[in-house]
Amino acid sequence: MSVNSRKVVIVGCGFVGSASAFALMQSKLFSEMVLIDADQNRAEGEALDIGHGMAFASPMKIYAGTYDDITDAAVIVITAGANQKPDETRLDLIKKNSTIMRSIVGELKKREFHGILLIVSNPVDILTYIALKESGYPANRVIGSGTVLDTGRFRYELGEHLGVDSRSVHAYIIGEHGDSELAAWSDARVGGLHDFCELRGHYDHDTAMERIFNSVKNSAYEIIAKKHATYYGIAMAVVRICSAIVRDEQSIMPVSSLMTGEYGIQDVVLSIPSVVDANGIETVVPIELSDQELEALRNSAAVLKQMIQENC
Ligand code: NAD
Repeated sequence: MSVNSRKVVIVGCGFVGSASAFALMQSKLFSEMVLIDADQNRAEGEALDIGHGMAFASPMKIYAGTYDDITDAAVIVITAGANQKPDETRLDLIKKNSTIMRSIVGELKKREFHGILLIVSNPVDILTYIALKESGYPANRVIGSGTVLDTGRFRYELGEHLGVDSRSVHAYIIGEHGDSELAAWSDARVGGLHDFCELRGHYDHDTAMERIFNSVKNSAYEIIAKKHATYYGIAMAVVRICSAIVRDEQSIMPVSSLMTGEYGIQDVVLSIPSVVDANGIETVVPIELSDQELEALRNSAAVLKQMIQENC
Protein backbone atom coordinates (compact mmCIF):
# COMPACT_ATOMS: atom_id res chain seq x y z
CA MET A 1 0.00 0.00 0.00
CA SER A 2 1.31 3.49 -0.82
CA VAL A 3 1.91 6.10 1.87
CA ASN A 4 -0.57 8.95 2.21
CA SER A 5 1.78 11.81 3.12
CA ARG A 6 -1.11 13.71 4.69
CA LYS A 7 -2.20 11.02 7.15
CA VAL A 8 -1.08 10.80 10.78
CA VAL A 9 -1.94 8.32 13.52
CA ILE A 10 -1.61 9.12 17.22
CA VAL A 11 -1.41 6.16 19.61
CA GLY A 12 -2.20 7.30 23.16
CA CYS A 13 -4.72 10.10 23.66
CA GLY A 14 -3.88 11.31 27.16
CA PHE A 15 -2.51 14.78 27.90
CA VAL A 16 0.34 14.57 25.39
CA GLY A 17 -1.54 12.73 22.64
CA SER A 18 -4.59 14.99 22.76
CA ALA A 19 -2.52 18.20 22.98
CA SER A 20 -0.48 16.96 20.00
CA ALA A 21 -3.67 16.11 18.09
CA PHE A 22 -5.08 19.57 18.83
CA ALA A 23 -1.85 21.29 17.74
CA LEU A 24 -1.62 19.11 14.61
CA MET A 25 -5.22 19.92 13.66
CA GLN A 26 -4.38 23.63 13.79
CA SER A 27 -1.11 23.14 11.89
CA LYS A 28 -2.94 22.06 8.69
CA LEU A 29 -0.11 19.60 7.98
CA PHE A 30 -2.44 16.61 7.65
CA SER A 31 -5.82 15.98 6.05
CA GLU A 32 -6.52 12.76 8.00
CA MET A 33 -5.82 12.04 11.67
CA VAL A 34 -6.54 8.75 13.43
CA LEU A 35 -6.65 8.56 17.22
CA ILE A 36 -6.02 5.21 18.95
CA ASP A 37 -6.08 4.57 22.68
CA ALA A 38 -6.45 1.51 24.91
CA ASP A 39 -9.43 3.45 26.27
CA GLN A 40 -11.67 3.61 23.17
CA ASN A 41 -14.02 6.14 24.78
CA ARG A 42 -11.11 8.49 25.38
CA ALA A 43 -10.07 8.31 21.70
CA GLU A 44 -13.66 8.86 20.56
CA GLY A 45 -14.16 11.79 22.94
CA GLU A 46 -10.94 13.50 21.86
CA ALA A 47 -11.75 12.96 18.16
CA LEU A 48 -15.16 14.60 18.65
CA ASP A 49 -13.86 17.48 20.77
CA ILE A 50 -10.93 18.29 18.46
CA GLY A 51 -13.10 17.69 15.39
CA HIS A 52 -15.52 20.37 16.59
CA GLY A 53 -12.69 22.90 16.34
CA MET A 54 -12.44 22.21 12.60
CA ALA A 55 -15.23 24.67 11.82
CA PHE A 56 -12.80 27.35 12.98
CA ALA A 57 -9.70 25.90 11.30
CA SER A 58 -9.61 23.91 8.06
CA PRO A 59 -11.32 20.71 7.01
CA MET A 60 -9.77 17.35 7.76
CA LYS A 61 -10.88 13.87 8.74
CA ILE A 62 -10.41 13.14 12.47
CA TYR A 63 -11.65 9.87 13.95
CA ALA A 64 -11.02 7.24 16.60
CA GLY A 65 -9.63 4.24 14.76
CA THR A 66 -7.88 0.92 15.14
CA TYR A 67 -4.49 -0.44 14.11
CA ASP A 68 -6.03 -1.45 10.78
CA ASP A 69 -6.00 2.27 9.94
CA ILE A 70 -2.20 2.58 10.11
CA THR A 71 -1.18 0.98 6.84
CA ASP A 72 -1.07 4.10 4.63
CA ALA A 73 -0.08 6.62 7.35
CA ALA A 74 2.97 8.83 6.80
CA VAL A 75 3.64 9.20 10.53
CA ILE A 76 2.62 7.28 13.65
CA VAL A 77 3.17 9.29 16.82
CA ILE A 78 3.34 7.15 19.96
CA THR A 79 2.35 9.00 23.12
CA ALA A 80 0.86 6.04 24.99
CA GLY A 81 2.03 5.17 28.45
CA ALA A 82 2.17 6.33 32.01
CA ASN A 83 3.49 9.82 32.61
CA GLN A 84 6.06 10.92 35.15
CA LYS A 85 4.81 11.38 38.70
CA PRO A 86 6.31 13.99 41.06
CA ASP A 87 9.71 12.70 42.33
CA GLU A 88 9.82 10.09 39.56
CA THR A 89 12.55 10.31 36.90
CA ARG A 90 11.86 9.51 33.27
CA LEU A 91 13.93 6.39 33.69
CA ASP A 92 11.65 5.20 36.51
CA LEU A 93 8.95 4.86 33.89
CA ILE A 94 10.88 2.29 31.93
CA LYS A 95 9.29 -0.83 33.33
CA LYS A 96 5.67 0.27 32.80
CA ASN A 97 6.21 1.87 29.43
CA SER A 98 8.48 -0.69 27.80
CA THR A 99 5.72 -3.29 28.19
CA ILE A 100 3.22 -0.89 26.57
CA MET A 101 5.67 -0.08 23.76
CA ARG A 102 6.25 -3.77 23.02
CA SER A 103 2.50 -4.41 22.81
CA ILE A 104 1.98 -1.45 20.43
CA VAL A 105 4.90 -2.43 18.18
CA GLY A 106 3.47 -5.97 18.17
CA GLU A 107 0.24 -4.55 16.69
CA LEU A 108 2.14 -2.45 14.12
CA LYS A 109 4.15 -5.47 13.00
CA LYS A 110 0.99 -7.40 12.16
CA ARG A 111 0.25 -4.76 9.50
CA GLU A 112 2.10 -3.10 6.67
CA PHE A 113 3.56 0.28 7.56
CA HIS A 114 6.09 2.24 5.51
CA GLY A 115 6.00 5.62 7.22
CA ILE A 116 7.91 7.18 10.11
CA LEU A 117 7.49 6.03 13.70
CA LEU A 118 7.84 9.00 16.05
CA ILE A 119 8.19 7.98 19.70
CA VAL A 120 7.31 10.55 22.36
CA SER A 121 6.51 8.39 25.43
CA ASN A 122 9.17 8.36 28.13
CA PRO A 123 11.86 7.37 28.69
CA VAL A 124 11.93 8.33 25.04
CA ASP A 125 15.47 7.17 24.18
CA ILE A 126 14.98 3.72 25.69
CA LEU A 127 11.51 3.31 24.16
CA THR A 128 12.78 4.38 20.74
CA TYR A 129 15.53 1.76 21.06
CA ILE A 130 12.93 -0.89 21.95
CA ALA A 131 10.65 0.20 19.08
CA LEU A 132 13.55 0.06 16.65
CA LYS A 133 14.75 -3.40 17.72
CA GLU A 134 11.27 -4.93 18.03
CA SER A 135 9.88 -3.51 14.79
CA GLY A 136 12.85 -4.30 12.58
CA TYR A 137 12.15 -1.08 10.64
CA PRO A 138 15.19 0.71 9.21
CA ALA A 139 16.82 3.08 11.74
CA ASN A 140 16.04 6.21 9.71
CA ARG A 141 12.29 5.51 10.12
CA VAL A 142 12.27 5.13 13.91
CA ILE A 143 12.94 8.39 15.69
CA GLY A 144 12.33 9.82 19.14
CA SER A 145 11.28 13.37 19.94
CA GLY A 146 14.54 13.32 21.93
CA THR A 147 15.81 16.70 23.06
CA VAL A 148 13.77 18.75 20.57
CA LEU A 149 11.61 19.97 23.49
CA ASP A 150 14.62 20.54 25.78
CA THR A 151 16.31 22.48 22.98
CA GLY A 152 13.17 24.60 22.61
CA ARG A 153 13.23 25.28 26.36
CA PHE A 154 16.96 26.12 26.16
CA ARG A 155 16.41 28.59 23.32
CA TYR A 156 13.48 30.12 25.21
CA GLU A 157 15.59 30.61 28.37
CA LEU A 158 18.52 32.04 26.41
CA GLY A 159 16.18 34.33 24.47
CA GLU A 160 14.68 35.61 27.75
CA HIS A 161 18.14 36.11 29.27
CA LEU A 162 19.46 38.02 26.27
CA GLY A 163 16.32 39.86 25.18
CA VAL A 164 16.21 38.29 21.70
CA ASP A 165 13.71 36.19 19.77
CA SER A 166 14.37 32.56 20.76
CA ARG A 167 14.27 31.68 17.04
CA SER A 168 17.50 33.69 16.64
CA VAL A 169 19.22 31.46 19.20
CA HIS A 170 21.07 28.47 17.76
CA ALA A 171 21.96 26.14 20.57
CA TYR A 172 21.28 22.49 21.34
CA ILE A 173 20.60 20.26 24.30
CA ILE A 174 21.94 16.83 23.35
CA GLY A 175 22.29 13.32 24.78
CA GLU A 176 19.54 11.68 26.83
CA HIS A 177 16.14 13.39 27.09
CA GLY A 178 16.55 13.31 30.86
CA ASP A 179 18.91 13.83 33.74
CA SER A 180 22.19 13.13 31.91
CA GLU A 181 21.48 15.53 29.03
CA LEU A 182 23.93 18.35 28.34
CA ALA A 183 24.03 21.78 26.77
CA ALA A 184 26.37 22.03 23.78
CA TRP A 185 27.56 25.49 24.86
CA SER A 186 30.64 25.50 22.64
CA ASP A 187 28.37 25.35 19.57
CA ALA A 188 25.85 27.99 20.79
CA ARG A 189 25.33 31.14 18.74
CA VAL A 190 22.96 34.10 18.85
CA GLY A 191 22.61 35.44 15.34
CA GLY A 192 26.15 34.61 14.16
CA LEU A 193 27.80 35.53 17.44
CA HIS A 194 29.35 33.35 20.14
CA ASP A 195 29.81 36.33 22.47
CA PHE A 196 26.39 37.95 22.27
CA CYS A 197 26.13 38.03 26.08
CA GLU A 198 28.66 40.83 26.43
CA LEU A 199 26.80 42.90 23.86
CA ARG A 200 23.88 42.73 26.30
CA GLY A 201 26.04 43.58 29.32
CA HIS A 202 26.23 40.06 30.78
CA TYR A 203 29.72 39.10 31.99
CA ASP A 204 29.14 36.48 34.68
CA HIS A 205 28.94 33.65 32.18
CA ASP A 206 29.51 30.64 34.44
CA THR A 207 26.70 31.57 36.84
CA ALA A 208 24.27 32.35 33.99
CA MET A 209 25.13 29.14 32.13
CA GLU A 210 24.60 27.03 35.22
CA ARG A 211 21.29 28.72 36.05
CA ILE A 212 19.93 28.45 32.50
CA PHE A 213 20.97 24.81 32.04
CA ASN A 214 19.56 23.74 35.42
CA SER A 215 16.31 25.50 34.67
CA VAL A 216 16.04 23.65 31.33
CA LYS A 217 17.01 20.28 32.81
CA ASN A 218 14.55 20.64 35.68
CA SER A 219 11.67 22.12 33.63
CA ALA A 220 9.68 18.89 33.48
CA TYR A 221 10.02 18.32 37.25
CA GLU A 222 8.94 21.90 37.95
CA ILE A 223 5.91 21.77 35.63
CA ILE A 224 4.86 18.33 36.91
CA ALA A 225 5.10 19.53 40.53
CA LYS A 226 2.87 22.48 39.63
CA LYS A 227 0.32 20.99 37.18
CA HIS A 228 0.96 17.21 37.23
CA ALA A 229 1.84 16.81 33.55
CA THR A 230 3.58 18.60 30.67
CA TYR A 231 1.98 18.63 27.25
CA TYR A 232 1.83 21.96 25.38
CA GLY A 233 5.57 22.29 24.75
CA ILE A 234 5.90 18.69 23.59
CA ALA A 235 2.80 19.09 21.40
CA MET A 236 4.50 21.98 19.57
CA ALA A 237 7.68 19.90 19.25
CA VAL A 238 5.60 17.08 17.69
CA VAL A 239 4.18 19.55 15.14
CA ARG A 240 7.68 20.80 14.35
CA ILE A 241 9.04 17.28 13.76
CA CYS A 242 5.98 16.26 11.70
CA SER A 243 6.39 19.40 9.62
CA ALA A 244 10.00 18.45 8.76
CA ILE A 245 8.77 14.99 7.70
CA VAL A 246 5.62 15.95 5.78
CA ARG A 247 7.20 18.90 4.00
CA ASP A 248 10.48 17.05 3.40
CA GLU A 249 12.21 20.05 4.95
CA GLN A 250 15.70 18.72 5.69
CA SER A 251 15.53 20.67 8.93
CA ILE A 252 18.23 20.15 11.52
CA MET A 253 16.86 19.21 14.93
CA PRO A 254 18.02 17.04 17.84
CA VAL A 255 15.65 14.10 17.47
CA SER A 256 16.89 10.87 19.00
CA SER A 257 18.15 8.10 16.79
CA LEU A 258 20.42 5.07 16.80
CA MET A 259 24.09 5.98 17.17
CA THR A 260 26.41 4.08 14.88
CA GLY A 261 29.85 5.22 16.00
CA GLU A 262 29.35 9.00 16.20
CA TYR A 263 31.64 10.35 18.98
CA GLY A 264 32.63 6.70 19.57
CA ILE A 265 29.04 5.88 20.64
CA GLN A 266 27.31 2.79 19.30
CA ASP A 267 24.06 0.84 19.67
CA VAL A 268 22.29 3.35 21.85
CA VAL A 269 19.57 5.87 20.99
CA LEU A 270 20.14 9.50 22.00
CA SER A 271 19.88 12.98 20.54
CA ILE A 272 22.36 14.85 18.45
CA PRO A 273 21.39 17.32 15.70
CA SER A 274 20.10 15.46 12.65
CA VAL A 275 18.74 16.36 9.24
CA VAL A 276 15.05 15.35 9.22
CA ASP A 277 13.19 14.86 5.95
CA ALA A 278 10.42 12.73 4.43
CA ASN A 279 12.44 9.57 5.14
CA GLY A 280 12.96 10.44 8.80
CA ILE A 281 16.65 10.81 9.66
CA GLU A 282 18.54 11.71 6.50
CA THR A 283 21.83 12.02 8.37
CA VAL A 284 23.13 12.92 11.81
CA VAL A 285 25.21 16.07 12.09
CA PRO A 286 27.89 15.51 14.71
CA ILE A 287 28.63 19.09 15.84
CA GLU A 288 32.00 20.00 17.32
CA LEU A 289 32.11 19.58 21.10
CA SER A 290 34.62 20.63 23.75
CA ASP A 291 36.46 17.83 25.59
CA GLN A 292 34.22 18.36 28.62
CA GLU A 293 31.04 18.19 26.50
CA LEU A 294 32.28 15.08 24.74
CA GLU A 295 32.87 13.41 28.10
CA ALA A 296 29.36 14.41 29.26
CA LEU A 297 27.81 13.03 26.04
CA ARG A 298 29.67 9.73 26.45
CA ASN A 299 28.50 9.59 30.06
CA SER A 300 24.90 10.16 28.88
CA ALA A 301 25.32 7.28 26.40
CA ALA A 302 26.71 5.06 29.18
CA VAL A 303 23.72 5.86 31.44
CA LEU A 304 21.31 4.90 28.65
CA LYS A 305 23.27 1.81 27.72
CA GLN A 306 23.16 0.56 31.28
CA MET A 307 19.39 1.09 31.39
CA ILE A 308 19.04 -0.89 28.16
CA GLN A 309 21.22 -3.72 29.50
CA GLU A 310 19.30 -3.88 32.77
CA ASN A 311 15.81 -3.57 31.32
CA CYS A 312 15.64 -4.63 27.70
P1 NAD B 1 -1.58 10.12 30.14
O1 NAD B 1 -1.62 9.15 31.26
O2 NAD B 1 -2.39 11.36 30.21
O3 NAD B 1 -1.96 9.39 28.78
C1 NAD B 1 -1.47 8.15 28.41
C2 NAD B 1 -2.50 7.51 27.49
O4 NAD B 1 -1.93 6.30 26.98
C3 NAD B 1 -3.82 7.15 28.18
O5 NAD B 1 -4.90 7.73 27.48
C4 NAD B 1 -3.84 5.62 28.13
O6 NAD B 1 -5.15 5.09 28.00
C5 NAD B 1 -3.01 5.38 26.89
N1 NAD B 1 -2.46 4.02 26.80
C6 NAD B 1 -1.88 3.28 27.79
N2 NAD B 1 -1.51 2.08 27.29
C7 NAD B 1 -1.86 2.05 25.99
C8 NAD B 1 -1.75 1.10 24.96
N3 NAD B 1 -1.17 -0.10 25.17
N4 NAD B 1 -2.23 1.40 23.74
C9 NAD B 1 -2.80 2.61 23.51
N5 NAD B 1 -2.94 3.56 24.45
C10 NAD B 1 -2.48 3.28 25.68
O7 NAD B 1 -0.02 10.46 29.96
P2 NAD B 1 0.57 11.75 29.18
O8 NAD B 1 0.76 12.88 30.14
O9 NAD B 1 -0.18 11.96 27.93
O10 NAD B 1 2.05 11.23 28.84
C11 NAD B 1 2.24 10.24 27.85
C12 NAD B 1 3.72 9.93 27.71
O11 NAD B 1 4.40 11.05 27.14
C13 NAD B 1 4.41 9.65 29.05
O12 NAD B 1 5.30 8.58 28.90
C14 NAD B 1 5.17 10.94 29.32
O13 NAD B 1 6.26 10.76 30.18
C15 NAD B 1 5.58 11.31 27.91
N6 NAD B 1 6.03 12.68 27.70
C16 NAD B 1 7.08 12.84 26.87
C17 NAD B 1 7.61 14.10 26.63
C18 NAD B 1 8.81 14.24 25.74
O14 NAD B 1 9.42 15.30 25.65
N7 NAD B 1 9.23 13.17 25.08
C19 NAD B 1 7.02 15.22 27.23
C20 NAD B 1 5.90 15.03 28.04
C21 NAD B 1 5.42 13.75 28.29
